[in-house]
Amino acid sequence: MTINDIFWRTKVAAWVHDPAEKALVLLRDPAGHEGGTVARLKEQLFPAGLPTEVQKFIEKADHWAAAADRPQFPREKDGGRFQPWAQVRFAETPELVHPLSGERITIKQGFTDLDPAHLKAVSADHFESLIVKPNGDIDWRATALAFWRFGPERPARDLNLLWYLLPADTRVPDHTIWAHLDLTSALAGAFAADPSLTPALLAMSFGPVQDFIAQARSTSDLWAGSHLLSRLAWEGMRVICEEVGPDSILFPQLRGVPLVDFWLQQEMGLPEELFKKLEWRKRGTDANPLFAAALPNRFLAVVPASQVRELAETVKEQVRAWVQDEARAAVEELLRAGNIPHQEDLPCFTQAKRQLKDFPEVYWAAVPWSLVKEQDRAVPDTTELAAAMAPFFPEEDNEKPGFLGSNTWQVLSGNIDLDGVSFYCPNPGVLYPALYDLLDRVAAATKSVRPFSQISERGYRCSLCGEREWLTTERKQLDLPPGKRDDTLWAKIAKKKPSWAREGEHLCGLCAMKRLWPSRFVEVVRRAVDIGDVRRYVVSTHTMALATSLGQWLDDPTSLPPWLSAQLQGYQEQAALPRSLAAQLRDADEDANLLCRRLPILLDTLREAAKDEGDYEQIREVEQKIKEEVFGHRPEAYYGLIMMDGDKMGAWLSGSEEKFRLSFGETWHSQVKAKAFELARDNEALRQYLTTSRSPSPARHMAISGALNGFSLELARHVIEDLYRGKLLYSGGDDVLAMVSVDDLLPTMLLLRLVYSGIFPGGDDDTDAWREVLGQQKKRLDIGRGHVRHRKRLYRMMGKDATASTGAVIAHHTAPLAMVLRTLRQTEKRAKNEGGRDAFSVTLLKRSGSAVELTCPWFVNKEMESLTASPMGLLIRLRNAFAGPGLSRRAAYLIQDWAAQLPGEKAMTDPEQHESMLATSLAYQFRRQSKGEAAQMNNARLGKELARLARTSQGRTGRDNPAAFMTDFLAVAEFLAREGRLGSKEEQGGSR
Ligand SMILES: [Zn+2]
Repeated sequence: MTINDIFWRTKVAAWVHDPAEKALVLLRDPAGHEGGTVARLKEQLFPAGLPTEVQKFIEKADHWAAAADRPQFPREKDGGRFQPWAQVRFAETPELVHPLSGERITIKQGFTDLDPAHLKAVSADHFESLIVKPNGDIDWRATALAFWRFGPERPARDLNLLWYLLPADTRVPDHTIWAHLDLTSALAGAFAADPSLTPALLAMSFGPVQDFIAQARSTSDLWAGSHLLSRLAWEGMRVICEEVGPDSILFPQLRGVPLVDFWLQQEMGLPEELFKKLEWRKRGTDANPLFAAALPNRFLAVVPASQVRELAETVKEQVRAWVQDEARAAVEELLRAGNIPHQEDLPCFTQAKRQLKDFPEVYWAAVPWSLVKEQDRAVPDTTELAAAMAPFFPEEDNEKPGFLGSNTWQVLSGNIDLDGVSFYCPNPGVLYPALYDLLDRVAAATKSVRPFSQISERGYRCSLCGEREWLTTERKQLDLPPGKRDDTLWAKIAKKKPSWAREGEHLCGLCAMKRLWPSRFVEVVRRAVDIGDVRRYVVSTHTMALATSLGQWLDDPTSLPPWLSAQLQGYQEQAALPRSLAAQLRDADEDANLLCRRLPILLDTLREAAKDEGDYEQIREVEQKIKEEVFGHRPEAYYGLIMMDGDKMGAWLSGSEEKFRLSFGETWHSQVKAKAFELARDNEALRQYLTTSRSPSPARHMAISGALNGFSLELARHVIEDLYRGKLLYSGGDDVLAMVSVDDLLPTMLLLRLVYSGIFPGGDDDTDAWREVLGQQKKRLDIGRGHVRHRKRLYRMMGKDATASTGAVIAHHTAPLAMVLRTLRQTEKRAKNEGGRDAFSVTLLKRSGSAVELTCPWFVNKEMESLTASPMGLLIRLRNAFAGPGLSRRAAYLIQDWAAQLPGEKAMTDPEQHESMLATSLAYQFRRQSKGEAAQMNNARLGKELARLARTSQGRTGRDNPAAFMTDFLAVAEFLAREGRLGSKEEQGGSR
């Protein structure tokens, strides 16, 4: 048996040490949870029994994993049995506790109708079907990977929602059996592969991120930048996955990421039929999820300590080698496109090689578990760990640093004595929080020393980044000023392949690689699925602007004027559409496909090629004709960009702030919790234990990465692309970057915020809120208690205490993208800073050059208010009112003029009196500008609500007086209500 074989055998054995259905059969099955499934699988996998050494690794890993995730639990002195009061019959009283918020969900009818024997059969069949035996012999690595990837996929219909969230321990149901199996497998692997049986935590990150993404001329560049970074990050993580398995990566969660599935199927030898139902295998369009950029630029892994340096160095080499290959391939394609014979000594090859030599920047830090010394039947020795931590913590009078000085550790390392009950003696697994904290600080210190390499570049620079030389076939051309470059590589490309370079554009190696990525990645996808005649992934702001008008046209299509059909047929490329629009197109005729897929390309191409006023005049004529003959109104020209970011992610991961932590007692099953608190009345040590905060455990990290995985892979995309007309550009971890049509902008922002936490103020059964505020005909998702149910799966989200801030920019499709992106970042920062987090901010960039900025908290009182009454609810209702026939948009202008003359709040001594003055005046203005009695009453009420919000949100709007905030609020609502945006409405005049 080779070492490698032992390693993967150990991991497979770790995966079957506990049956997945443990929670459901515990206490109901006479064979015990280790009979049944486990016995049957072990028989299949290890007919001669588990090798002793493997058995040893797994026991140790199981103990560490259990200790790290549920440090202590009462058990009888000297006996193995738990106290009767500490036992839970999960099938009768199934309860899950949200690991981040403590919210509880119970499954009312229980699972007693599921027969344990049936369950075990289903589970054993499921895992048996995942054993990979290509030639009759077990492929240990492929089997471990198949268990990891498909074990959590529901094996039977009657286990629908629960399977994925089955708890590891019914008494502490705050983490899943899958998290426990992942961690046990990761630790067991590290024990098996390390001579001194020592795991280490490894953190790696890649950069630069912001600059690389922001250097974009078009949204296709923007997408390419994000997607390339995500692809690069995967290239690094792939090394870890191949060497020690994807379960070793605690953050991000890789299960279900399409790129990872692609690798499992194409390179790891997992049987093809396992993947056949997955969307990336089925969707033969540019809406294929492989096009989604879904991985953050960093990861955290458990690896064998002795291999840390080698693994980190391999990651770095692998990522850079991948970049070199990709850049070289891009240069070759450019030469082909320019019809230039390939010659090895062309300067462009050496340029690209030199420019990308140190790309990306790679940082890593590691902390070995050997800093903690395991001791037989005693608390581990932490002397070395304390010494390693000391330099990173401000000196506090003789206190031990960080976790070691915390109340939590005092309690865990002390002895809790309860009549006849003892607690586990902590093992090194319990010290995970201290190791993570140290790692976090070491990593931050590494990053502050930025590697800097001098590059000598000459002549004019790349048109996109302005940093590096542009690629050339003759070095002396580099000195040519912009007007004189008629015979360059780029001049040729611009003529033959305008989508790769606009006239005059000259790009460096890195920017060229980015520019070609939308074409090159399409070919990668083609290896997985037939995507027909898609040649390049084209996302454009113009498509997004037109999406509103195209969607309306599709509801009631007319035949296209022949001149337009003829023009559209002249274009090969297709615009990548929002998935909802693409779905509408599926049953539509050729005209519809032509219009939706090609019109954005036609108009963009005309604009890109335009040189003088005559050309622009011609574009205006085309647009005018389209308005008259196709849409009946001027096509929408604005689009929205959204940037959402989870608040305080670092603090969530490190649990550095008390409010982000739960006490031990709060994570217990209610039944056990109630009894424990009863006993604690007479036992101070137990009481202290129950109320002490838990520190971050591996399962907590997995819960966070799992929540973010579900959010970024499935739910954010579903919201943006299926429920609204939008296109996801990037979604990795807690970050989302998306383009949305203006009429869907506000509800998209709001629903993303709700889904992120799994909250729905007022309850998700509020059909009025779904219709009026979220613009959906009916309830589309089950949202609440930190969870979201979607397509037969229950997703655990970040929970009610986690918040996110969102910035959005509304811009004209011709506005320079670099400027729009800059504004977007500032807007997102404004939501965090001026809005005090858990807020949104909108910047409206009008074509005239003027801008409106609105900043507002997401909720004034999350627990009390309904979604309809929330600030965003009010903004959307106001917009709806302006768009409808009952309220003149003139009201917005009149109120703005009037508000400008108001004294600031400082002039008023009493804010409530000020509010009442504002409310009366707003109600009056709204009533006067309304038609019909019902509208008058309704709109007067909107006025009062706005006045109240102006007072209650004070201090979180970036405005020093309520009137200025109201003006921003009305300006945004009014702009989004303009003609053509929300269905039809006669032009009312009054627009400025
Ligand atoms: Zn460049």
